[in-house]
Amino acid sequence: PAFEEAITTGRIVDDATRVVLPAHGESGVVGLLVIAGAGGLDDGLRDTLTALSSIAGLGVSQAMAAGELQLEAEQSRRLERLKSEFLNIAAHELRSPLGIIRGYSSMLSDGMLSEADRGVALTRIVEKAEEMARLISDMLETARLETLGLELELEPVDLIEVIDNAVQAMRPLLDANHRFALVAGCGDVAVVADRARLTTVLTNLIDNAIKYSPDGGEIEIDCEHDDRVVSILVRDHGIGINADQAHLLFTRFGRLVTPETSHIRGTGLGLYLARESARLHGGDITVTPTHGGGSTFRVTLPLA
Ligand code: ADP
Repeated sequence: PAFEEAITTGRIVDDATRVVLPAHGESGVVGLLVIAGAGGLDDGLRDTLTALSSIAGLGVSQAMAAGELQLEAEQSRRLERLKSEFLNIAAHELRSPLGIIRGYSSMLSDGMLSEADRGVALTRIVEKAEEMARLISDMLETARLETLGLELELEPVDLIEVIDNAVQAMRPLLDANHRFALVAGCGDVAVVADRARLTTVLTNLIDNAIKYSPDGGEIEIDCEHDDRVVSILVRDHGIGINADQAHLLFTRFGRLVTPETSHIRGTGLGLYLARESARLHGGDITVTPTHGGGSTFRVTLPLA
C-alpha cells in the first residue's frame, strides 16, 4: 500500500518502518526509492533524499527515451531493408508476367492471332495478371505484418467451403499433368477463422504444390481432426523438401533454389505469410515428406 500511495499521489510516504520516495520522470512516476528500516525523517534528510530521487527519476526517464529511440532506429532499419528487398522482387518477379501480358496483348491488338490463339492469349493474360495480383498482395501483406501486425476478422467458418473456394480459385492454374483430389476427411467441420486469410493460406499451399511438382501428379487435399485440433493437409508428389532445410521455407524471403528449381519463380513470402496467419489463428503449418515422394503441408487449427 505504501508503494501504491507513493505512485498514485506522487508524494513521499514515510511510515514508522520505511520511507518510499517516488522518482519523477517526464511521463510521471518512473520508479521508487525505498529506504527500509528508517522512518520519521527530519527535514534536511528529506530534502536530500527528494533531490536524490529526482536525479534518479531523470536518469530513468532519459534511459527510457534512449531505449525508445533505439527501437525506432531498429524499426526504421528493418523497414529500409524490407523496402529494398521489395524493390528487388518488384524488379525481378513482376517483370516476367508483365512481359508476357505485354507480348500477348500487342499480338492481340495487331490482329496477328487466329480465333483459337486469341482464346489462349486471353487465358494467359488473365493468368499472369492473377499472378501479379497475388505477388503484390503478398508484398502488401508482408509490409502490413511488419508495421501494424495482422488483424483477424474471426467468424464461424465451414471448413469444406473454404477448401472448395481455394480449390476453385486455383483450378485455372492446373495444367494437363496435374489433378486435384479432395479426400473425404473434410466433412462437417466448423472452425472460428478469418475466412479470407484462411483461403489465402490454402491457395498459397496449392499454388506451391502445383509449382513444385513440375512433372505433374495428384494434389490431394485432406483433413484430419480430433476433439481439439483440425488439420488440413495439402499433399503433392513433386520435388520434395530436404528435412534439414524445412525450417528455412517459413522465413521471410526463404527459398530453396537448386539447379532443378531455378526456373521456378517466386518471392519466398507465401509460406512465411501462411504460417504467420496460421499462428495468429492459434494454429501452425508444418511440412513432412509425402509417402512415395513429394511434400505434405499440414495446417493445424484449434477447434472451438
Ligand atoms: P515461393 O514459392 O514464392 O518461392 P514460398 O514461401 O511459397 O515462396 O515457398 C518458399 C520455398 O519453399 C520455395 O521457394 C520452395 O523452395 C519451397 N517449397 C514450397 N512449397 C513446396 C512444395 N510443395 N514442394 C517443394 N518445395 C516447396
